[in-house]
Amino acid sequence: MEYRKWYDRDIKTSALGFGCMRFKMKDGKIDEELAMHLIDVAYQNGINYFDTAVPYLNEQSEEFVGRALKRYDRNTYYIATKMPVYRYKTVSDVEKQIDDHLGKLKTDYIDFYLLHAMNKDLLKKVKELNIIDICKRWKAEGKIKNFGFSFHDDYDTFMEILDLYDWDFCQIQLNYLDKDIQQTMKGYEELVNRKIPIIVMEPLKGGKLAHFNPKVEKKFKDYNNDIMVKWAFRWVSSLDGVMTVLSGMNELSQLEENIKIYKDFKKMTPEENELVLEVAEELKQLEVVGCTQCRYCMPCPNGVNIPTNFTIVNDYAMFDNENQAKRDFKFLSDKFADASYCIECGECIPKCPQHIDIPKELQKVLDIMNGLN
Ligand code: SF4
Ligand code: SF4
Repeated sequence: MEYRKWYDRDIKTSALGFGCMRFKMKDGKIDEELAMHLIDVAYQNGINYFDTAVPYLNEQSEEFVGRALKRYDRNTYYIATKMPVYRYKTVSDVEKQIDDHLGKLKTDYIDFYLLHAMNKDLLKKVKELNIIDICKRWKAEGKIKNFGFSFHDDYDTFMEILDLYDWDFCQIQLNYLDKDIQQTMKGYEELVNRKIPIIVMEPLKGGKLAHFNPKVEKKFKDYNNDIMVKWAFRWVSSLDGVMTVLSGMNELSQLEENIKIYKDFKKMTPEENELVLEVAEELKQLEVVGCTQCRYCMPCPNGVNIPTNFTIVNDYAMFDNENQAKRDFKFLSDKFADASYCIECGECIPKCPQHIDIPKELQKVLDIMNGLN
């Protein structure tokens, strides 16, 4: 297993981390036998970073992870979990959280503690409820060892959060197709410059980079026999400062495939790197709408989820997955947020930095979706 040392600190994490949010469920409960086996195989093959959070798997993940890892020497693995900042109304809500984590995880300390899915709104709450000071106290008491945050918002918000505290680590969404969204590569570089260790989530863009449009896939296939997943993992794990890449594995074959990639890990050559960037560019060119997901156009007064409508048709063009597109669109329709709810008021148009004629492009989304069987 490939390991990464956290700069001058006495921490070495496996370059592949286990995201404990996708175990299969049986009758509303985690499929215990399968999930336990996956944890065992992961541990025995050198994975030492296990990532969970309060809401994962109907709030069953933390408790399960605690139970599964309790069978091993506590000094041989790391647990990461996250504070559900979005739930709190009062300081006392926050104060209660740590004992809840420790109880469920059956441990005296959390190795890596993150503020979960930070964004502009949650940043306000973190300030109002004095959350940084509370976590600093927990750290001084030894209840948490390292304090960081996971992130989903834009670059400016990222920088504001980064300047709030001397973070021990940070978890960001990164893959070769998402380089220009959320914190972007500018945010990534800031972490490298500050020597803040990086944990990566969504290295496969929610599984989408496992297969895509055959015309583009061919570029990789002509180069070597590697599976698409390997290109995606290698790209992100070849970046400086990336310590661990999380994968939410729920099948043995998938876990074994990923372990194989990281047992025999090789950094990308400049030539391979160039090929990945070419593929990313080709995929981007298949996009129907050049939406960067900045969300400046939101909220729409008529409830349309503008960026997600665009994502659905862009993903369909890039990844060729008709069923996924239909499922995603139905999800929006159920919330009265699909493109058909646009009344062409035009309010969103001046807000879009990409100068997208949003109502016109939403009509295109409808045409494409109506064209599917
Ligand atoms: S034009 Fe359509 S999408 Fe834009 S704000 Fe109006 S209703 Fe919403
Ligand atoms: S439509 Fe424009 S403003 Fe809205 S998310 Fe996309 S790029 Fe941003």
